[in-house]
Amino acid sequence: MPAGMVETAGKAGHAGLGEIARKVERGDRLSREDGLLLERHGDINFLGELANLVRERKNGNVGWYNVNVHLNPTNVCAYRCTFCAFRADLKDAKAYRMADDDIITRAREAKGRGCTEMHIVGGLHNKMPYEWYRDILTLVRGEYPRIHLKAYTAVEWDWFERITGKPVAELLGEFRDAGLGSLPGGGAEIFDPVVRGKICEHKADASTWLRVHEEAHRLGLRSNATMLYGHHEEAEHRIDHLLALRDLQDRTGGFQTFIPLAFHPDNTRMAHMPKPSGLMDLRVMAISRLMLDNFQHVKAYWIMLGIKTAQVALSYGADDIDGTVVHEKIYHEAGSDTPQELQIQEIRHLITEAGREPRERDTLYREVSRGARFTDWSVAE
Ligand code: SF4
Repeated sequence: MPAGMVETAGKAGHAGLGEIARKVERGDRLSREDGLLLERHGDINFLGELANLVRERKNGNVGWYNVNVHLNPTNVCAYRCTFCAFRADLKDAKAYRMADDDIITRAREAKGRGCTEMHIVGGLHNKMPYEWYRDILTLVRGEYPRIHLKAYTAVEWDWFERITGKPVAELLGEFRDAGLGSLPGGGAEIFDPVVRGKICEHKADASTWLRVHEEAHRLGLRSNATMLYGHHEEAEHRIDHLLALRDLQDRTGGFQTFIPLAFHPDNTRMAHMPKPSGLMDLRVMAISRLMLDNFQHVKAYWIMLGIKTAQVALSYGADDIDGTVVHEKIYHEAGSDTPQELQIQEIRHLITEAGREPRERDTLYREVSRGARFTDWSVAE
């Protein structure tokens, strides 16, 4: 173990931390008790140093980013998660549902900007059949066949199951034929049933969320995983959440990246609660990196964390800061004050300034090369 790490473990003041540092150094798996000890006694420097060791072991000095666009086809939602500032009732003044032409325009715009990915998530519209969601994929692919469609969270897949009575494996197959490339990680929130009951009582439960991802992995689709923190949850809920993800990853290996999501209270029914601090953001990032030893990537989603924290997070376990993220609505409704779109040069500069080597990726973490024209792109196989 590097001498500095022993010293910071010592300063952190708990004998067990030295043993955890030795485990990380050897590449041994951390237990639930280790996770709880890190949560309760690990100081920020100690956590950062250890998480950075794992980050550099797995991803070297690379800071990944991608060029993507968001599509939130509707904000009308049958559910009422208390942390959600995005949703609307069918008759609300702010309710919207994108028309086919708007979706095609968005696909054309993505092509014109050289985006490699479209991230598609939205509300559970009470009146729209599942075919509408499926046909969005067909519309986008019709306009821009090369784009990777990362579409619909496990909560949406559960909704499609409920409204059709079809098993999720069949739905995933049908949507894959329409262009589905992978699944985003949203909707996981916190798996603990009591906390989940407080923030999203009607939503797909933990076992459903995990089952949908397991089915997707079984079909060869990759997916991401998330955790919403900084609201009603306690340290043990975060650790148990990470362990549930780690268990599934042991079985399938289908997760690509883990994204801790900081709770944003503005315009939600939890507006009385404070935002998580920057310190908490970095602690959660580092502990996630340490517990999820079978995840290759951990992302600092700059839209949620803010640019400055995302930059620092590149030394606290994260190896990815997501992308240009045009047209993001969900977190901006909840008070995120990050700019809607970060230009490529700016993203590269932020990563370089953080001491990392910027590298563009596609959704599946293949390196992207750009030709003389930015829209001419290819991936390393
Ligand atoms: S978080 Fe998703 S499921 Fe929950 S209310 Fe908002 S849009 Fe609906």
